[in-house]
Amino acid sequence: MPSIALNNGVRIPQLGFGVWQVPDAEAAPAVATAIEAGYRSIDTAEIYENETGTGRAIAESGVDRDELFVTTKLWNSGTLDWSGEQGRDRVLRSFDESMARLGLEQLDLYLIHWPRPMRGTSYLNVWRAFEQLLADGRVRAIGVSNFRVPDLELLLKETSVVPALNQVELHPYFPQAELRALHAEHGIATEAWSPLGQGRDLLAEPALLKIAEKHGRSTAQVVLRWHLQSGVIAIPKSVTPARIRENLDVTGFELDAEDLAAIAAVETGKRIGPDPAEFD
Ligand code: NAD
Repeated sequence: MPSIALNNGVRIPQLGFGVWQVPDAEAAPAVATAIEAGYRSIDTAEIYENETGTGRAIAESGVDRDELFVTTKLWNSGTLDWSGEQGRDRVLRSFDESMARLGLEQLDLYLIHWPRPMRGTSYLNVWRAFEQLLADGRVRAIGVSNFRVPDLELLLKETSVVPALNQVELHPYFPQAELRALHAEHGIATEAWSPLGQGRDLLAEPALLKIAEKHGRSTAQVVLRWHLQSGVIAIPKSVTPARIRENLDVTGFELDAEDLAAIAAVETGKRIGPDPAEFD
């Protein structure tokens, strides 16, 4: 599996395993299947309430800790009512609690889950607490999620550490060209959530079915291949063992210019998930 060097030199596999909406009891077997299939990057979050099951699968996997890349995210309540020291302590406590549930000493990537711009700029203070976690060696890289162009621009202007990545909704319907251009300018990697468009209409798009048939692949594999060739990190989710394996098997073929043009043409500019401008 190809990997991408983040702006501080830490490498992240380009395909990871997402566990949103996987109940804690199912997270352990799903993550175990994923690690056994060859995934080395796992994406969870405080709000998914499955850090415990995810951590158990990691501990029991038999894979060396330094071969695995683990991401978790600070939930929005951790950024509420920011007031100086107290707010910073809340972030550090949320981090410690996530780490206890995951059973890890050091995290690979910690993300601010949502910017919540309707609440002002408290994410700047959250970010300063993240910078402290990085300086203290508790985490190898820090990043953001669902940050829009203005949120990122303010963060870059007001704080010291450039985020390693921004994890945002991204798939052929919603390819995020403007945001990706800003990321490229500042050395911020792009990570796609809902990379398969949540497995719904996108995977039945006639243009994608045609490309899938041409390569003898599934539409999910075509879409994940598109992410890899776009230089994006993708974290597809599945709890079905055959799909977990299928989603990782995307390195043995190449989309050509004609395929890429046909995929570009399915763009609708419409999100499936919430708009970060409004999501609280
Ligand atoms: P996804 O695009 O990965 O789609 C997952 C769904 O697609 C599955 O539930 C299944 O129904 C279907 N699917 C998966 N593999 C398939 C295959 N091979 N063939 C046919 N159908 C298949 O959607 P997602 O779960 O929303 O996103 C992936 C991950 O991104 C999440 O698990 C989570 O880790 C992360 N995420 C982050 C945020 C955020 O705010 N940062 C938001 C949403 C998701």
